[in-house]
Amino acid sequence: MKRFLSGNEAVAWGAWESGVHVAAAYPGTPSTEILETFAPMPDVYAEWSPNEKVALDVAVGAAYAGSRAMAVMKHVGLNVAADSFFYASMTGLEAGLVIVNADDPFMHSSQNEQDNRRYAKFARIPCLEPSDSQEAHDLVGVALDISEQFDTPVMLRLTTRISHSSSLVELQGVRPPARTEKPPYRIDTTKYVMVPGNARRRHPVIEERVTKLAQFAETFPYNRMELKDRALGIVSNGVAYQYAREVFPEASMLKLGMTYPVPAKMLREFASQVERLIVIEELDPFLEEEIRLLGIAVEGKSIFPICGELDQQVVRECAIKAGLLPPSARVPVVTPEKGPLPSRPPILCPGCPHRGTLYVAKKLGLVVNGDIGCYTLAFQPPLGALHTCGCMGASIGVAHGVAKAGIAQRNIAALGDSTFFHTGMPALLNVAYNRSNVTTIILDNRTTAMTGHQQHPGTGRTLQGRETVQVEFEALAHAMGIQRVHTVDAYDLKAVEAALKDCLEADEPALIVARRECALMPEARKQWMPLQVNAERCNGCGLCFRIGCPAVVKSGELDAKTGRPKARIDPLLCTGCEICAQVCTRRAILFRHQLIENKEQQQ
Ligand code: SF4
Ligand code: SF4
Ligand code: SF4
Repeated sequence: MKRFLSGNEAVAWGAWESGVHVAAAYPGTPSTEILETFAPMPDVYAEWSPNEKVALDVAVGAAYAGSRAMAVMKHVGLNVAADSFFYASMTGLEAGLVIVNADDPFMHSSQNEQDNRRYAKFARIPCLEPSDSQEAHDLVGVALDISEQFDTPVMLRLTTRISHSSSLVELQGVRPPARTEKPPYRIDTTKYVMVPGNARRRHPVIEERVTKLAQFAETFPYNRMELKDRALGIVSNGVAYQYAREVFPEASMLKLGMTYPVPAKMLREFASQVERLIVIEELDPFLEEEIRLLGIAVEGKSIFPICGELDQQVVRECAIKAGLLPPSARVPVVTPEKGPLPSRPPILCPGCPHRGTLYVAKKLGLVVNGDIGCYTLAFQPPLGALHTCGCMGASIGVAHGVAKAGIAQRNIAALGDSTFFHTGMPALLNVAYNRSNVTTIILDNRTTAMTGHQQHPGTGRTLQGRETVQVEFEALAHAMGIQRVHTVDAYDLKAVEAALKDCLEADEPALIVARRECALMPEARKQWMPLQVNAERCNGCGLCFRIGCPAVVKSGELDAKTGRPKARIDPLLCTGCEICAQVCTRRAILFRHQLIENKEQQQ
């Protein structure tokens, strides 16, 4: 059975066909669709965990219990899961464990560009890298087999282009029969309890495992030599292999499907058969360094960039510059017609509930420590209401540090509901415990909006659609010892301002839950209703432009006195959230009830 699948979908299919029983993840681009595809499949358990470390621990637990398991995360998620990544390497497992890690070269949706092959080497965990969707599918099963053969977790490293590009995949469409009996949990404390005495015994085992894996890499079928013209030999991996093949169709290639540990003998043999050896790889000079450590002369980052994604064009131009190809190899670049589409700067959607809260914070002159989520976009002008953003959950800790540094100005922290569950909770506990006067705002839009509206512990539903507990932020904060807690409608600017002022006047930890569901949720969409500007009242003061709503635009009409353009609301974009109407001091923007009244009078 052939299907046209993205790399992410192919991984989900590969996991299902290989008998993965438990899979856990935290959503994060470019890896999110893997669990979304896997969760509805029969005979599986899949969950969104509150963060990647929990997800990995869950998968490890399942593998300890003898079930094949998968943990999925984007590259920065592995930073969160790093503790578990390292102990899982030390203990090994009872059944296969694949850790799918999606790196994001060029940072399409990430705060950095880290190359997680480094983590694989750091933790002595083998790293497999597919070059297309078929390999993404096949390597899941291969990773699980290797995991069981060598008693190690295995990293399956994707990159954005592999995750999101689609190609034909041959599927089996069958799954190994489900276990009927429930075997007892195998207790092995010397292997699974990493107290120092046991850990010291395990470390040599891990080192020996890497040596065996390096030998295995020599005959691993996804490491293959394609010998053609010997003048140039290229070592490549992942999507870079596709670019290399296209730009150098006649060159000899060594394609590595396992990039840690590398096959030393195979590399030496390949290098001895070609006149000039280069590496084409995205991001870090990882393979280049591994080859150089073998004492083999090689070039790589002296020719190809270390930053950003490669593509055929980049590889070709760099090769021409380095004299690997003649200038005549240049091919005309076909730039797709852009057409009359308007440009879409990355800003909050029209009707976004975060806009009002952050507008009020800006109006009060507050420094806002932000976090990872849609609201990060509020740093953009004209809203310009966010001042720091480092990583998931950093907002509260950073604001606490600022408060403890003893400056006069009050900083606040703002983060989303899902991010709060991810890594905000311990940071809020720290504020409560170590007593700083940080005001935390949970921008509660009832979903994980940025990655595509996934469930989380506050929504009352699981990934697989079951009803579950719905955690209340207010009760949590009270339990942590925070007395000052407000819940406000995020669209009600006066209520947000009053809550903020109350918290800022008090010298104690405080929490504001600014609640309104994401404007793009189906229930919210049903209530959309475009507002209108009364052009006679509008004098072009520009206040409504400052909220940064893409639906508020300058009209062609200028105010006779000020000469400034009056406002207009694009009815195709406006949701009717009324934030602009509350901002307009001249009452020139009609509220929903006014529009309804006007309509009724006209009828
Ligand atoms: S997706 Fe939802 S939360 Fe995110 S910017 Fe748009 S409206 Fe706001
Ligand atoms: S805030 Fe009111 S008066 Fe000012 S430009 Fe907007 S609609 Fe016109
Ligand atoms: S009501 Fe105003 S702020 Fe809300 S979406 Fe419409 S134009 Fe934008």
